[in-house]
Amino acid sequence: MINVTRSSMPPFEEYMEEIRELWDTRFLTNGGVKHKKLEAMLKEYLNAPELCLFTNGHLALEYALQAMGFEKDDEVITTPFTFASTTTSIVRSGLKPVFADIKKDDFTMDAEKVEALITEKTRAIMPVHVYGNLCDTEKIEAIAQKHGLFVLYDAAHAFGVTKNGVSAANFGDASMFSFHATKVFNTVEGGALIFRDGQYGKKLEALKNFGITGRDEYSYAGGNAKMSEFHAAMGICNLLHVNDEIEKRRAVFERYIENLSGAKGLLLPKTVPGIRHNYAYFPVVFDGFSITRDEAQEKLSENGIMSRKYFYPTTNAMPIFKEEYRIRPEDTPTALEISQKVLTLPLYADMTMEDTDRISEILLRQER
Ligand SMILES: *Cc1c(COP(=O)(O)O)cnc(C)c1O
Repeated sequence: MINVTRSSMPPFEEYMEEIRELWDTRFLTNGGVKHKKLEAMLKEYLNAPELCLFTNGHLALEYALQAMGFEKDDEVITTPFTFASTTTSIVRSGLKPVFADIKKDDFTMDAEKVEALITEKTRAIMPVHVYGNLCDTEKIEAIAQKHGLFVLYDAAHAFGVTKNGVSAANFGDASMFSFHATKVFNTVEGGALIFRDGQYGKKLEALKNFGITGRDEYSYAGGNAKMSEFHAAMGICNLLHVNDEIEKRRAVFERYIENLSGAKGLLLPKTVPGIRHNYAYFPVVFDGFSITRDEAQEKLSENGIMSRKYFYPTTNAMPIFKEEYRIRPEDTPTALEISQKVLTLPLYADMTMEDTDRISEILLRQER
């Protein structure tokens, strides 16, 4: 059986060595040595101005929105072609999601669709670097600047991606990275928020630790979203290998391209000049292929190969949001269409070329 993903892990001994001192210090969380070390390493790797670690990427999004101090029912323009987390972070913060459609070529927010959605309640834009494809940052940020909006990128997929040498962490007002076990870089569970404003950072640090700002001083109704020393230690170890892991992913990605390009009705991910990609996912759009996306998933499954309808359904088609906000998924036709045709194939650093070929072969065999 081949799973759709397989977590990257450092050699066992490296992790054991990294956590050894925790048995002496007995300092297991609350910003200890491992936390500080990982923070510094990540700041350097991502070229991040300011960085705050979190229990997971989702909470980084929620705290990022809360730290902005928006009011109830303020609006955030986002995209429906994403993991539920992007939209739930908005809803759970008492804000209203407003959906802009995506572009057909790279599935990121269509900047041309944004301005028409701005109202006097709009406070922020929350685009997603889907599959590690960087958004049209210049256009989106120009619109944000013109209307005084905060730009928070969901960069959960974009770890290690650069555009003309500029890190994905350097766009907008803030960016969230997820370090979940299935992502390109993982701390088992974990995430980070990258931002520019140091004052904002102070508030985030307090919010993720019960609102504590000093001795006997509680300045905010904070929660708990701290990263533990054990998770930080996993990150320290994994970060030392992440470039090798990305290279291994690249080999699989390129093998898929080699095998599948030319197949009629299979749209494959494109490489863009100037972009250092992280090869996080291999999304294939079944558009006029001999079998549908759902049939392809079934065929692969019969052969013990797991694939994922990533993303289906679009978040604006989920009844949990649709009813309350009177959302119509037909208003974002491209997102709706892609969600019905896209399948992500297995891709992880340790995947063999034999497996990559076997998966490609099963798909190609369906061609009539
Ligand atoms: C993984 C992911 C998240 C959530 O991150 P967690 O670290 O799992 O909480 C949010 N948005 C997108 C697009 C993701 O892929």
